[in-house]
Amino acid sequence: MALMLRNVRCVVSCDRHDNVYEKVDIYCKDGVIEAIGKDLDIGAEQVINCSELLCYPGLVNTHHHFYQLFSRNLPQTQGLRLFDWLTALYDVWKRLDPEAVYLSTKCALALLMKSGCTTAFDHHYVFPGESSIGLLEAQFSAAEELGARFHASRGSMNLSKKDGGLPPDSVVQTTEKILKDSMTAVECFHDPSAGSMRQVALAPCSPFSASRDLYRESAKLARSLGVRLHTHLCETKEEEYYTTTAFKMRPLEYMQSMDFVGEDVWFAHGVWFNDDELRVLRDTGTAISHCPTSNMKLASGAARIPDMLQLGIPISLGVDGSASNDGSDMIAEMRQAYLLSRVMYANHAPDAYDWLKIATVGGAKTLGRDDIGSIEVGKRADLFLIDKRRLDILGAAYSPKTMLASVGLSDSVDYTIVNGEVTVEHGHLKNEDEIALFEKAHEKIKEYLDVE
Ligand SMILES: [Zn+2]
Repeated sequence: MALMLRNVRCVVSCDRHDNVYEKVDIYCKDGVIEAIGKDLDIGAEQVINCSELLCYPGLVNTHHHFYQLFSRNLPQTQGLRLFDWLTALYDVWKRLDPEAVYLSTKCALALLMKSGCTTAFDHHYVFPGESSIGLLEAQFSAAEELGARFHASRGSMNLSKKDGGLPPDSVVQTTEKILKDSMTAVECFHDPSAGSMRQVALAPCSPFSASRDLYRESAKLARSLGVRLHTHLCETKEEEYYTTTAFKMRPLEYMQSMDFVGEDVWFAHGVWFNDDELRVLRDTGTAISHCPTSNMKLASGAARIPDMLQLGIPISLGVDGSASNDGSDMIAEMRQAYLLSRVMYANHAPDAYDWLKIATVGGAKTLGRDDIGSIEVGKRADLFLIDKRRLDILGAAYSPKTMLASVGLSDSVDYTIVNGEVTVEHGHLKNEDEIALFEKAHEKIKEYLDVE
């Protein structure tokens, strides 16, 4: 299948030379960008007139919990910080079933794609039933139906309250079960090839819900299977208190003791690293997924992103779970990141274009991918387009490089294209009836939350 984006008004490529092209064609074939240039003399089955459209690389979301879309804004969670917030929600999450996971995955991905996201990682770690495979299958089906590039996780929790952890017994599993399922999940769903639409990472949830054994064995297993590792780390001061009390080690030291650092590892949050720990991240090539909205909402703190960037630590952006963001909007997240860093660091903060690169190239690097993240010949055709005549960007589109993080959008992007396929068209999902999806999800939420 060939797609021609004809006469694109402006292309912000985010390539290594920071090229911005004016009035060029982009030709994509079989999911790959094959040519970028003026008046390309090539035919295509599908042609989109882009003379009024601004074009960006698809955004890459590196931390989320899709299932939390069904437990947003609950009264019992208002005003809480992480540990109390989690404790209030475990009781709800234990009711998850494949239908709730399928529908919440589909709705969260839909929202992400409508905000220009083309690749998303989901840190799913609640598996109340016997096998994780059915839930992961539901997630991959939802992603495939929408046309999203999806990185799932076989997340895990095995440390319940009786063993000194935070979650109740109802949401944890045994180490043996988790490791067996992890192997099956990678065998069933992980595709390491170029242009892959589906990958799997192993992802114990956090130091206060996963045991030392689980971290250590997950790291060994992931490396033997050639998949990446992920966990929450240094999100709150409570977590720091937990590891220094329970293990006599700070959180990163604890991770190092289990060989859970390296170029194949990324941590969500990373708010409370000290100077020495930032150097460890740099020296080991460990990456950070920055989640500013969640960190602000749960009063966790603000990550030291400018210091990390200065050291060359790989940084990407994650919206975090829907219940600690109350949204799944990558462009809004970029703007939050930009504003938070401005208020914290003033002129030492990354500029608005830096944040676009963090959300694109940075995300691709974090997920270990060199085939996405920028608009270049040979890369996958993952991109999105915005009509520059929209009222919400009136007067702002003269600087397309900085527009998204600095100004943002108040509505969906106009087109999202993943692997050369149009998935969002004129602001709406192409492969899904949004009203029917809402109604199905709404019915399921009522059952799941047991409300009218
Ligand atoms: Zn999270």
